[in-house]
Amino acid sequence: MNDCIFCKIIAGQMPAHKIYEDDLAFAFLDIRPINPGHTLVIPKAHQENFLKSSEADMCHLIKVAQKIAPGILKAVGAESFNLGFNVGRGAGQVIFHTHLHIMPRFPADGHEIWQGSDEHPDFQAIADQIKQRL
Ligand code: 5GP
Ligand code: ZN
Repeated sequence: MNDCIFCKIIAGQMPAHKIYEDDLAFAFLDIRPINPGHTLVIPKAHQENFLKSSEADMCHLIKVAQKIAPGILKAVGAESFNLGFNVGRGAGQVIFHTHLHIMPRFPADGHEIWQGSDEHPDFQAIADQIKQRL
C-alpha cells in the first residue's frame, strides 16, 4: 500500500462517507466541503492527476458523475453544481490521486465564479501555438 490518503480510503483503511462504488470508481464526501454534498469521484487505479489517469478511467469518472450528481443535488436541495479537476499545485491540487469534484451550488453561497478578462490577448497566435502542440 502506498502513502496515498485516497488509496487508503478505497481500501477501507481510512474512514470516509462513501456514497458510490463500482469496479473502477469510488465516490465519497469531501471532508472540507465548499457546500453540503461536495463529493469527490476517484478512479480506483492510483494516478497523480487527470492527465496521468487512463482514458478509460476518465471516461468512466464522467459517467459516474452523471449518474450520481442528480441524487446529490436532490439530497441537499441544490439545482446547480460545479464539476472540476484541479490539475497541479498551481491549480490548487493538494491530493495527488486523480479526483473529480462535484460541488453543489446555492444562490448567494458566497463562492465566486471564474471572472473573465476584457483584455484581449493575441487569440490567433495562442490558438496556433496550441494547435501545433496537439
Ligand atoms: P484538491 O485541492 O486536491 O483538488 O482537492 C482535494 C480535496 O480532498 C479537498 O477538497 C479536501 O478537502 C479533500 N480531502 C483531503 N483529505 C481528505 C480526507 O482525508 N478525506 C476526505 N473525505 N476528503 C479529503
Ligand atoms: Zn492513491
